[in-house]
Formats: sequence, C-alpha cells, structure tokens
Amino acid sequence: MSKKETMQFETEIQQLLDLIIHSLYSHKEIFLRELISNASDALDKLKFKSQTDQSILGDDTEFKIRIETDEKERTISVIDNGIGMTREEIIENLGTIAKSGTKGFVEALSANKDKADANVDLIGQFGVGFYSSFMVAERVVLTSRAAGSDKAWRWESKGDGSYTIEECDQAERGTKVTLYLRETSENEDQDYTKEWVVRSTVKKYSDFVTYPIEMDIERQEIPKDDEGKPIEGAEPIKKIETETLNSMKPLWNKRKSEVKDEEYKEFYKHLSHDWNDPLDIIHLNAEGILEYNALMFIPSQAPFDLFTPENKSGMQLYVRNVFIMDNCEELLPVYMRFVKGVVDSADISLNVSREILQQDRIVGKIKKNLVKKVLERLAAMLKDERETYEKFWSVFGQVLKEGLHSDFENREAISDLLLCPSTAGDELTTLQEYIDRMPEAQKEIYYITGEERDVLIASPHLEVFKEKNFEVLLLTDPVDEWVIQGLNEYKGKKLKSVVKGDVDLQSEDEKKESEEQEKKLADEFSELIKFIKKSLGDAKVADVKLSQRLTGSPVCLVAGEHDMSASMERILKAANQPVPPSKRVLEINANHELLQKMRELYDSKGESDILKEFAELLYDQALLTEGSKVVSPETFCNRLTNLMLKAVSA
Ligand code: ADP
Repeated sequence: MSKKETMQFETEIQQLLDLIIHSLYSHKEIFLRELISNASDALDKLKFKSQTDQSILGDDTEFKIRIETDEKERTISVIDNGIGMTREEIIENLGTIAKSGTKGFVEALSANKDKADANVDLIGQFGVGFYSSFMVAERVVLTSRAAGSDKAWRWESKGDGSYTIEECDQAERGTKVTLYLRETSENEDQDYTKEWVVRSTVKKYSDFVTYPIEMDIERQEIPKDDEGKPIEGAEPIKKIETETLNSMKPLWNKRKSEVKDEEYKEFYKHLSHDWNDPLDIIHLNAEGILEYNALMFIPSQAPFDLFTPENKSGMQLYVRNVFIMDNCEELLPVYMRFVKGVVDSADISLNVSREILQQDRIVGKIKKNLVKKVLERLAAMLKDERETYEKFWSVFGQVLKEGLHSDFENREAISDLLLCPSTAGDELTTLQEYIDRMPEAQKEIYYITGEERDVLIASPHLEVFKEKNFEVLLLTDPVDEWVIQGLNEYKGKKLKSVVKGDVDLQSEDEKKESEEQEKKLADEFSELIKFIKKSLGDAKVADVKLSQRLTGSPVCLVAGEHDMSASMERILKAANQPVPPSKRVLEINANHELLQKMRELYDSKGESDILKEFAELLYDQALLTEGSKVVSPETFCNRLTNLMLKAVSA
C-alpha cells in the first residue's frame, strides 16, 4: 500500500472552507441534502455507464444510499454504491477549484472580500456541495473505490489548509463520507446522530431522490408468547430493522393537485443546488398522442455561469422513472438554458443516446411543446404579474432575447416578451406598449444602442425625435446589437436605428413645405461640405451631409443603413474580435450658429487652417457624443487648448 500523503488545498478552497466554518450558522442541515445529492449523482453516473457496460456492476446491482450514525463517536456517514472516485478524481474534485460550481463561487467571493454577510448570501446562490460538511463536522473522512478499480482511497481533512490521502481497504464499490460532528450546545434537533433528526431532514430535503435512502433503525420490542401476546414484565428485545426513509415517488409523475408547494420547492433545490425558491413552476402531465410528464422551474437568481460556454441545459431526461441523462440539450433550446427541470416520457427508448435523441421525432415534439409552455407561462406572468416578470427579465431577459436570433418559429412570441428602457420614462416598456403610445404621424419603431442610458439619452441623434415627441427605445444591453438584427419588425412596424441611414420623419405636407428651404441650404453649404470632407479625408468619413436629425448639436456621425453601428464596433473591439473597417457619414446641422459662421468664413476667405482645425474638432466631438473614443486624445486636447488660447487672447 502507498504511504499517507499530506496535501494542501488550493488557496481558494481554503478561503471557502474558512468562510463555511466561521461564518455560516443557519440551515446547517442542508449538508445532508448535499451529501445525499452527491451520492444520488454518483449512482446516476454509474447507472448511465452500466447501460453500455453491464459488467461494471459486478454482483452489486442494487443501487442505494445508506446513512449510518454513531451516537458515541458522534459520527454520521452517507454511503453509496455509485461510481466512486479514483485517487486523482478525489484530489481534483475535493482539493482544487477545477470543479466549476465552486470556481464561480470563489470568483464572486474574491470580488467581495471582507463582506461576510454578502458572502453568506453568495453561498446560497452557488451551493458548496461537499464542503458544506464542514458546517457541522470538525473532521471529515471520505473513502472511495471507483467502479472497475480494485484500489480504494481514504481522504481526510479538518478543513484547516490541508488534507491527507492514502490507500485503504474497502470491499464495496462507491463512496462513504463520515462526518465527525462538532460538539453542539444547540438544540437537540441539530444533533445529526439522532435517528429522528436524520429522518426528518431526509424527508424534508431528499424525499424524491429516486434511490432508496436506507438506515438501520433500532426498535425495542416486548417479547411475545406463543399466542402472540406480549409477555408482561419481560425485558424488551432490541431489534434492528433497515428502513427506507424517502418515498422516492418522483414528483413529476404525480398530478399537480397531489403536490404541495413546499414539495415543489424542495425538489427544485435538490435539482438545482440553489438555496432560493424558484420564481415560477411549470408542471405538465401531457396525455394523448404524446405522453410525458414535465416539471420545469424558472429560478429566481442567475447561476454564475449563465454566460459561459460551460453553461449547459438544466433539463434531465427520465424514461419511466429511470434517469437517462443530465443537461439534456434536446429538450429545450439554448436560449432557455435558465430553465431547470425534468422530463419523463414512456415513449422514449431506455437505451437512447445523445446522438439518437437529436433525431428522435418524439423528443422533437416534446421540445416544441415545452418551449410553447414556457413562453405561454412567461406571457401570462407579464400580463398578470408584472413585478415578478420584471424580476425574471432582469435576471434572464438577456438570455431569452437570444431566441429572437435562433428561434424563428417563436420569434413573435419572444418579441412579445421583450422589455426595453425607453425615452418615455423610467419604466421598462414592451413593444406593444410602445406602439400603443405612438403618435399617428410616427410610422416606425425607433431605437438606439449603446452602453449607458445617460449617454444615449443625451445623444444628438435623438434631437429631432424629442422634438417630434417620438419615443426611442434605449437598448443598453450588449446583446441588443445583434438581437435586434433578428427582429426587423414588430406587428408590421419596422424597427429602425436612429444612428443609421437617413431619417424620414416628415409628412408629405411638411416635406413639400421644407423642400425649397432645404434646397437653398444645400446650395449654400455645398462648398463648405466639400471642404470638410476633403479636410477629414476618406479614411475618416464616408461622406459629409446636411442633417435631418439634429436640432441642437452641430454634428453627429451616422452609420449606413446596413453597416455596423459604433456601439457594435465597440463591443467587438472589447471582445478582441476583428472589426471590419467602416466609415460613417458626418452629418452637420445647417441651422447651428457655428456651422453658419463657418460657412460665412469659408465663403469670404476660402480654405484656411482654422476651418481645417474646426472640421477635425467637430469630428472628434461627434465621436465623443456617441460614446466612442477620439483617435488621439492628445491631438484633440492640443486643438482645444489652442482654441481657448485664441479666445482669451482675442
Ligand atoms: P457538486 O456536487 O456541486 O459538483 P461537490 O463539491 O459536492 O460539488 O462535489 C465535487 C465533486 O466530487 C462532484 O462533482 C463529484 O464529481 C465528486 N463527488 C462528490 N461526492 C461524490 C460521491 N459520493 N461519489 C462520487 N463522486 C463524488
């Protein structure tokens, strides 16, 4: 046998353990749920593996979880005959932050240093699985033998920076976790060596676990005579019986009316490892041509990895109560990855693989129905429980929006669910509400994209819209840029960016009226425009034009109707993506005093250095007001300083 080795936890794990040991006081009992859930996962994994390799099970084919307690030693053990772990897996899973759940937690933790309270909340958000043992234990011993391996390993730690690992004897396959409980001065109902405490905790948190959770229960029995009557005055006999503590009845296969709200919530917590209640519950018992039961939850908080590529579907697939697979991407589209749930169908083969699932027509139909149900539920929430919906939107709106791009079939239903900030006020608006407010003269739905609401509101591009009292959607979410491209119109109204292409806000009568005036201005300004264009050069602007959208500011930059907007360019640059060279049109406001003075100067003196400087400064101004950076802050400042100098010297 190999020698006992002492190893250090990764710093972050130790940070986490310190916090668990020193700051967590409430809900300590969830450690049991976490350990049982790990055991149940380990059994799921083994079961899945055994579907392709039955031999891996050997004689040990009855999947179960056992709980053992010892009042004298003050221990509680959770034992499973699941997949087990090799030495490397133990080190990887329990000593490093490679495991993503904890990784996200630790990242959030380091961003939140010194705020114990906030960190306790964080733990709730992420769940800390195995490590929660240290809330109640002063020492934890784990032994494990991986399926198919003949070696077993013993891991031990006091949560104080290091752990030991050594080879050990263990005939049975699977994992045993033993907690040496801290002495507790607290209530008896926190003494996890007591049968009734264990029983009620299991019932509360793990009743629906699909494997039996067994425990040996000691009973005192009065001896009986031959006729079966208790013998008076006889010493009671101790009898040990193995009892299954959980009902194992899968909640999703029950009728809605049979399930209590609390049961749904506990099941959700088991499924998602989230400590918070779900925001909404969708329970379907589909009958008819397609038979399946589905239980889906919309969480109230986002998981830390919602936007990382590792974030997988939250759906599990069962066939007639048999767990088939986790993260079943075929059941819901990627843009519904926030939904956690279970689908159980008798119409799918037990031996189904991921590859087959992708082509399975039944699964395809179930998916279609589930998507419809989720969208319907959200629509009802938006209609009847606006506040709850806004909460949902603030957490998952960004993800749902992705569907506009990827789910053509449901585009309309998804666009009904959009909530956007707008110039109409502080409240978020749906597109329908926007349309309901549109003045008669307004034909299109207008929007502007960018990082900050304040910058957008002050944007020169909005001037004419403000004047006409046309509302503009303020899209500040980075995904909006490409999401909006998936949504060209809503209810027959085109969506139009106010920073792209020409704006045409005038009625036919107004056009006729202003035609002459515009023509006059165009003539007057044509030479100055040519000069500005020449000064800035082709590298900076595609064109210089008189503006229809400015009323107060002197200039702004506008992208071509089909070009990328400035905010999209910034997003791509920030993500280190290649940005195709694009030039925008500089629009100038002929009614602005500065432009009029510049024109007069040009008409009287022709080309001059000062006008050239002005052209450059105006261009930089346009960049700044749209939220972009000037190319050379230094040159910009020098020009400004020179100008100020001239002003004070004049
Ligand atoms: P989580 O369960 O959220 O992944 P844990 O910290 O509880 O996080 O566990 C870390 C990893 O250790 C698990 O993902 C699993 O791979 C492994 N593990 C924990 N308990 C067991 C067990 N009883 N049997 C097999 N592997 C286990």
